[in-house]
Amino acid sequence: MPATLPHVVVIGAGPAGLMAAEAAADGGATVTVYDRMAAPGRKLLLAGRGGLNLTHSENIELLLARYGAAATRLRPAIESFPPEALRNWCESLGQTTFVGSSGRIFPTAFRASPLLRAWIARLKSKGVVFSLRHQWTGWDEAGLLRFVAPGGLVEVRAEATVLALGGASWPRFGSDASWAETMRRNVIEVSPLKPANCGFLVSWSDIFRTRFEGEPLKNIELSFDGRSARGEALVTRTGIEGGGVYALSAQMRDAIAASGEAIVEINLRPDLGLTTLEAEIALRPAKQSLATFLRKSIRLQPVAIGLLHESAGEGPERLSSMNASQLAKLIHAAPLRLIGVAPIERAISTAGGITFTEIDSRFMLVNRPGVFVAGEMIDWEAPTGGYLLQACFATGAAAGAGVVNWLFSSTRMGTPDPRSSQPSLPKSP
Ligand SMILES: Cc1cc2nc3c(=O)[nH]c(=O)nc-3n(C[C@H](O)[C@H](O)[C@H](O)COP(=O)(O)OP(=O)(O)OC[C@H]3O[C@@H](n4cnc5c(N)ncnc54)[C@H](O)[C@@H]3O)c2cc1C
Repeated sequence: MPATLPHVVVIGAGPAGLMAAEAAADGGATVTVYDRMAAPGRKLLLAGRGGLNLTHSENIELLLARYGAAATRLRPAIESFPPEALRNWCESLGQTTFVGSSGRIFPTAFRASPLLRAWIARLKSKGVVFSLRHQWTGWDEAGLLRFVAPGGLVEVRAEATVLALGGASWPRFGSDASWAETMRRNVIEVSPLKPANCGFLVSWSDIFRTRFEGEPLKNIELSFDGRSARGEALVTRTGIEGGGVYALSAQMRDAIAASGEAIVEINLRPDLGLTTLEAEIALRPAKQSLATFLRKSIRLQPVAIGLLHESAGEGPERLSSMNASQLAKLIHAAPLRLIGVAPIERAISTAGGITFTEIDSRFMLVNRPGVFVAGEMIDWEAPTGGYLLQACFATGAAAGAGVVNWLFSSTRMGTPDPRSSQPSLPKSP
């Protein structure tokens, strides 16, 4: 072990960066965490507004499959820090967790602030120093890290660095993806950043938009390209967003990129079989208006009825001219034309990022020894359901362990250190 502890710089105080900081501090390094924001974990707190879905309770193989092509490269990190370890780690911070009815795992407090507060306090007790309002802009010719801080330019020497700068969504909470340009300048490949778990653009009629903007379509099932998802969709001024939409968003986004549009089918009464629905519609009293009948007897929300009108249009195929069979089919599969992807600034997460070809098994940049990467800035994507945070925590832990391994390995320091053969992960109590 060297006389002075090696200085590790972590840039990005989100879940990935903080986890890397903890692993590096536990492994014997002195750690400084830099962030451009005035407080750490801003996006984690934002995620906490929805209850903070930390991870998922499904079997590890199913969970890994959620990461698609990136699963192979994420597997070692997630197997080293699986959902069970994440839950234990939460408990070690005094935050119990529970499995929700859908198998998703949440902190019992159902928000992020108690967890984040306890975590920051523990990191400080381990000697981790926070330098906030420091925007990283790259390296100088000598390899020093450059920051723009309130007092001007700051240059920092680090023996190892972890970049955990997040994606491109919700930039006002910190992650603005300005790092992508820095990476490209340094010949580090970044695949294009794209919205993931995002909303879509729809050319609503003025009447529908005025009446239903902000209304949720509840208990629906969306289908696209052979995949279906139950959930909710919110009508926005420019289109549609929400859990049910996010679940199919990667496929719909790619279809729009390829052909300029995607037609998603919306089942407005997924719990009612088509034959039953058709039989119920056939019983419509002649004197009752269609709108009243659909609302009262078929129990469709006004926004759902509006959507049927949008799908059917005002031509000869309009809603009022349909027979029971046509109407039942439309209620079960109302086609909605998506004409674009909502801006990445409003997406839940980001696809694309530093490609895995640039990263070794320790999460170190192949062409920049001593610089590690973690979290959403790496080229992987996953649906909502806790998979985003799970991968951020796990890659943060792996990058922190990688730093420790690299700093203290016998080949670098001359003297072997027992920790070098056993990368340290954040300690459970
Ligand atoms: C509304 C919303 C709800 C969500 N809910 C969930 C959920 O319930 N479950 C789930 O799994 N995921 C959820 N997510 C996604 C999850 O929050 C992110 O995937 C996760 O925070 C990414 O972690 P990260 O550490 O990689 O990056 P971030 O959390 O984005 O942290 C990156 C940090 O780097 C800093 N930074 C960036 N650039 C610089 C720079 N140049 N210099 C200095 N600092 C910089 C930023 O300020 C930021 O603090 C949600 C996201 C949103 C937007």
